[in-house]
Amino acid sequence: MKTSLTLASIATVLCLTGCASTAPRSAADIAQQTIIVDGHIDVPYRVNEQWVDVTVATDGGDFDYPRAVAGGLNAPFMSIYVPASLDNSPESTKLAHKLIDSVEAIVGRAPDKFAIAESPDDIERHFAQGLISLPMGMENGSPIQGDLNNLELFYQRGVRYITLAHSQSNHISDSSYDLRRRWKGLSPFGKELVKEMNKIGMIIDISHVSDDAFYQVIELTQAPVIASHSSLRTFTPGFERNMDDDMVKALADNGGVIMINFGSGFVSRAARQWRDAMGKERERIEQEFGRNSEQYREFDTRYREQNPYPFANLDTILDHIDYVVNLVGIDHVGIGSDYDGVGDSLPEGLKDVSTFPNLIEGLLNRGYSEDDIEKILSGNVLRAWREIEAVSARLSS
Ligand SMILES: [Zn+2]
Repeated sequence: MKTSLTLASIATVLCLTGCASTAPRSAADIAQQTIIVDGHIDVPYRVNEQWVDVTVATDGGDFDYPRAVAGGLNAPFMSIYVPASLDNSPESTKLAHKLIDSVEAIVGRAPDKFAIAESPDDIERHFAQGLISLPMGMENGSPIQGDLNNLELFYQRGVRYITLAHSQSNHISDSSYDLRRRWKGLSPFGKELVKEMNKIGMIIDISHVSDDAFYQVIELTQAPVIASHSSLRTFTPGFERNMDDDMVKALADNGGVIMINFGSGFVSRAARQWRDAMGKERERIEQEFGRNSEQYREFDTRYREQNPYPFANLDTILDHIDYVVNLVGIDHVGIGSDYDGVGDSLPEGLKDVSTFPNLIEGLLNRGYSEDDIEKILSGNVLRAWREIEAVSARLSS
């Protein structure tokens, strides 16, 4: 006892004279000194809709270089999002290529700020070099168009995960949002695709798919899978887009990671109910007055004025993280904010990419160790990704 006290006081004296401090770090320091990976940010779609230069400060949106630096964000997965309206059309493939071009353009315009990352090693190297990594994930497998050559081509272009479906069943998988269960899970091609993705090291993203599709993926895959931007159904009963407890357990058994979506509608029952009620009321107004009426045109603004949106807050997000940790341990949760993808529904305290220190502060306040926080910020998803790379190496050797 005496010895350790003496050692401790010696250490304190040494640290006062300039040695590496063992004092707890601030949230701001952790944000800057730890790799932060975000599973899903919709920058390419935003830029495609309304071009803006995210290599410098931008007025709107949730992401730009200065804010990413302020927040300590290091590797936001750029979502190559293809809407379901283009499913079964060659246009979906073209749009995916165009969005990849737009990520390349961001890097081309500011190679001193950004670099495309194709592996965990890339992300670590860019971090050491002071560059923000831009890994890419394709949201919706429709651009594959039933052709495994497209899978290979998108992999070569740098895409590292594919969300099998988006808002509707496509040629690969059923969607949680689509009441028609065309395949009762995965299509025959979808099952083939899962095996092929394992083989080439393309991460399988199960966000958006139906429960049946999720369990079929889990059954088939030899590598861990991720949910790039999903939250927990226990907080939003009936919302199949989120994962229920059994699914989170199956995902953990698989070695995968659920990356928590920040959107209020994903994390809070009140926000879900607000949206459902608004939808019903809009339908009523449409039936009563018609789509061309002033009542219909002004509906959204008026409804929002009369029924303020019940924003979630930082604690709501922390509740989701806590819940996963209590259910399956610390090794299976990450961050998939959906910045630039969920409009103005972001929770108080986490309004854009500059706010990650708030999240870290919240985790510290809830008693998470710095090691655990590092796992949530990037350690878990990078571990899963490395396992996926190892499975690919094994299957292709
Ligand atoms: Zn999405």
